[in-house]
Amino acid sequence: MRIAIAEIAQETDSFSPLVTDLSDFETYGLFYGAEVIKRMQGVGPIGGMLEVVAEQNEPVELVPIVRAWASAGGTIKAETIELLLGRLLSGLREALPLDAIFLSLHGAASSEFDDDVEGYVLEAVRGVVGDDVPIVCPLDHHANVTKRMLRCANVLVAHETQPHDPPATGRKAARMMFGMLHGTIRPTKAWGKIPMITPQDQFLTSQGPMKEWFDLAREMERRDKVLDVSPCPMQPWLDVAEGGWSVIVHTNDDEALAQSLADEMAEKAWELREQFWMSERVAPALAVRQAMEAESGLIILSDTGDSVYGGAPGDNTVVLRELLHQQPTDIALVPIIDPEALGAAMTAGVGSTINIELGGKVDNFFSQPVGVTAKVAATSNGVTVNLADRGICDLRRTALLEVGNVKIVVLDHRSFAINHPVLYMHLGLDVSAAKMVVLKTASNFQFFRQWSKAVIRVDSPGMTQSDLTAFDWKHLPRPIYPLDALEGWR
Ligand SMILES: [Zn+2]
Repeated sequence: MRIAIAEIAQETDSFSPLVTDLSDFETYGLFYGAEVIKRMQGVGPIGGMLEVVAEQNEPVELVPIVRAWASAGGTIKAETIELLLGRLLSGLREALPLDAIFLSLHGAASSEFDDDVEGYVLEAVRGVVGDDVPIVCPLDHHANVTKRMLRCANVLVAHETQPHDPPATGRKAARMMFGMLHGTIRPTKAWGKIPMITPQDQFLTSQGPMKEWFDLAREMERRDKVLDVSPCPMQPWLDVAEGGWSVIVHTNDDEALAQSLADEMAEKAWELREQFWMSERVAPALAVRQAMEAESGLIILSDTGDSVYGGAPGDNTVVLRELLHQQPTDIALVPIIDPEALGAAMTAGVGSTINIELGGKVDNFFSQPVGVTAKVAATSNGVTVNLADRGICDLRRTALLEVGNVKIVVLDHRSFAINHPVLYMHLGLDVSAAKMVVLKTASNFQFFRQWSKAVIRVDSPGMTQSDLTAFDWKHLPRPIYPLDALEGWR
């Protein structure tokens, strides 16, 4: 049994001024050939797939080709996609004949020349391997599923949870792949496209309407002949021609059942549409005041408008400005990405006091640089940290600036570690002593779970803000909820 392995994955924020190029993929780990297997043990969907390979009773020959993963960001450069796809296709041509391809994708990637990167990649892969080789794809559930993806892939399995468990998705997809290869199942898929977009506020699968919708998927999977039900609430900043929510259902050779379940899932999402727009967001000034007044424990201030994991630049100053203005009497931790300010702090050195303009340089539409007089309390020339199933993360240079109790960590680039306690700990800060921490995410609070007492969702403006009606949508198919009046989802 001979199986090719590849990953080309990124989530695009159409409203971000950033451009994603090869260096972004290199930051998060760009591997070719045998290094893919060496580096991906326990990491991402490929890590999950490798666990399932190890369970097999027969020899499995793996042909690792390319692993390219970048965090959410701006539109991907054409030359970057062509380079990665070129490596994938030439690797596949050399690897033929193959029994299957395990191709990990995000589902919400958009490039300068094609706003459906996954459809483009899958069509090209199908063109090389022909119609008979199964292509099995784990996806992010914030995917935008397109007709081309459906046509070109055999299996598309999305994450079951937010926050995501990528290895689990890899295991699920791999088990279906081996079932197909052993002839024990014959996956047949159907889908429903749901004309709606909703903000990030209700994206956690552990509560609210998203839990209800995802629980229904899990319940359906316990029914006879149902292999997988993948709800895909598209991430909300993707302005593309086939944009919108969807659901994919795989049954064991029962197309009518797959379609009826997909319809039922679409109907359920539509019924819940108003609940998906509920919000507990708090204006920045009030959010900081509430955090200051909270009794004990760490309060997470979720900077929803500047979610780095959602594709924002991470240099929005709205929450920072409010913290500096209110000067908390307890310690507040806040990250900001600003290579220029970082350079100034490194040059000045530890112990010095500097006057600088901080942040608001990339995102200078929703926020402006903030002038600070800060003490350079610590610097780091770079550290490599192992973030478990998210892989190895290179933090590069950082500096800790202090303005009273406001402890600002300045990063030189967007990094997964921006929402991880290691960012503060590696500069000598004690997270347990802090009263509040600003996280540049609206969903991934799990790394601070051991300290956090509450999450306050700050209604901050920015490239990942929750007020989707304020964006200038140009490509979404219309009509779409809630931008237009619609009778039903069909
Ligand atoms: Zn996602």
